[in-house]
Amino acid sequence: MPEKMLQFIRLSQENPEKRAVKQRREDFSEIYRSFDTSHAAAQASRCSQCGVPYCSVHCPLGNNIPDWLKMAAEGRLEEAYALSAETNNFPDICGRICPQDRLCEGNCVIEKDFESVTIGAVERFITDTAFQEGWVKVPRPAHELGQSVGIVGTGPAGLAAAEQLRKAGYQVHLYDRYDRIGGLLMYGIPSFKLEKEVVLRRWRLLEEAGIHFHMNVEIGGNKSFASLQARHDAVLIATGVYKARDIGGPGAGLAGIVPALDYLVASNRRNLGDTVEAVDAAGKNVVVIGGGDTAMDCVRTAVRQGAKSVKCLYRRDKANMPGSMREVKNAEEEGVEFEWLSAPEAFLGDESVTAVRAIRMRLGLPDASGRQSVDPVEGSGFTLEADLVIKALGFDPENLPSLWDVPGLEVSRWGTVKVKAFSFMTALPGVFAAGDIVRGASLVVWAIRDGRDAAEAIKHYLAAKVSGQSTQAAAE
Ligand SMILES: Cc1cc2nc3c(=O)[nH]c(=O)nc-3n(C[C@H](O)[C@H](O)[C@H](O)COP(=O)(O)OP(=O)(O)OC[C@H]3O[C@@H](n4cnc5c(N)ncnc54)[C@H](O)[C@@H]3O)c2cc1C
Repeated sequence: MPEKMLQFIRLSQENPEKRAVKQRREDFSEIYRSFDTSHAAAQASRCSQCGVPYCSVHCPLGNNIPDWLKMAAEGRLEEAYALSAETNNFPDICGRICPQDRLCEGNCVIEKDFESVTIGAVERFITDTAFQEGWVKVPRPAHELGQSVGIVGTGPAGLAAAEQLRKAGYQVHLYDRYDRIGGLLMYGIPSFKLEKEVVLRRWRLLEEAGIHFHMNVEIGGNKSFASLQARHDAVLIATGVYKARDIGGPGAGLAGIVPALDYLVASNRRNLGDTVEAVDAAGKNVVVIGGGDTAMDCVRTAVRQGAKSVKCLYRRDKANMPGSMREVKNAEEEGVEFEWLSAPEAFLGDESVTAVRAIRMRLGLPDASGRQSVDPVEGSGFTLEADLVIKALGFDPENLPSLWDVPGLEVSRWGTVKVKAFSFMTALPGVFAAGDIVRGASLVVWAIRDGRDAAEAIKHYLAAKVSGQSTQAAAE
């Protein structure tokens, strides 16, 4: 074991510095500063190089974390980047927005007594250094292949699949209804978590690699799915999930009650310099309903827009919320107030909302899935002033078979596209699917994993198609 490692005994955990709260509240820049070289090496050297690396086991991409930590500790950053890029198309993105507290870092063996290695921050440092030093190369293929693949959706699933297929030599065409790539990376996740240049620099590399981007093209809108099937040898559906779950009850239709993604997309567009009619929280009392990543992004966006007050209503307690604890802490630091164990009952106001009437909840017994039920506490109603209410209750898939007029595309009872185990192929031959549209709303790292796996399956399918054609030609 090299002396460089196992330093957790001597060194405490350090995260990259966060910008001052006052400054953070006033702009949309990322809140974490980068490690410098010596801090990155020192923090990487805390890794215990344990026999069974639970960090890798719990990383959906199976990243070789202990190996690239060791390289970073030894100053071998170019090798560290090469190794991390072998299993992950976008380590710079994952280093910023993966919920490491629930994945790699949450399972680090030194976590219990010494606090985990700061894996995400080191991953980000390695990749940002690689970009600065010019080590990140255009993913050009060694040779060209004639077959083409059409991919619907430029989110992390579609982009990861596109890069893998292009590296293998296929002609790759990406279609997206938006004008910029990235899906939720570009328009959902705010830039205080992920600055947009990080996504845009990937776009430039993929374009240079010869991937064709067809932006402002909506399948089922200005282009039919059938035309894609006719044009390409295989098609991948990576469209994510966008149908917002709604909330009913008295006053639910009042003005000033908006879906989370409309709010976030408009804010992101405005920060990118687009002219949009955006709902603005400036000077308003804002109430966000929900407890996931989307809700956390809304409350923190409202703070930055200059809201008078920002409150988050969540029907379970802090321990049971689905969002990352790191993001809750950031939100609390920035002045967001949380009303745990609270649910809305009605929205008050004449034309526009002026208040939310809510009720306290209590956790009950676990149901069949093991999740505790939540029940209202009688007589515990309370009212919160609100001129803007943001609904962040999760997303479901659109009904693709009817929207795209492909009745043969099988979907589950939740509307997610059904794929065959391991092959990622849908019920339609040559049509594959990956990412949130298969899993339901999930994480970027899972979308990358699915995109990579789907690309492998597509390669096998296309290779078999070619050898089938040549066998047939030989027989004729
Ligand atoms: C607000 C918010 C914050 C999040 N924060 C995090 C986080 O911090 N960390 C994390 O790991 N995950 C986070 N997630 C989840 C993560 O963003 C998603 O799991 C991931 O982006 C899914 O990737 P995808 O490629 O499947 O789909 P998407 O990223 O949704 O991309 C789908 C793409 O398909 C395009 N598309 C859809 N329909 C059509 C059509 N008919 N024609 C053409 N194009 C179409 C869309 O325009 C989009 O570009 C967050 C999600 C949200 C909503």
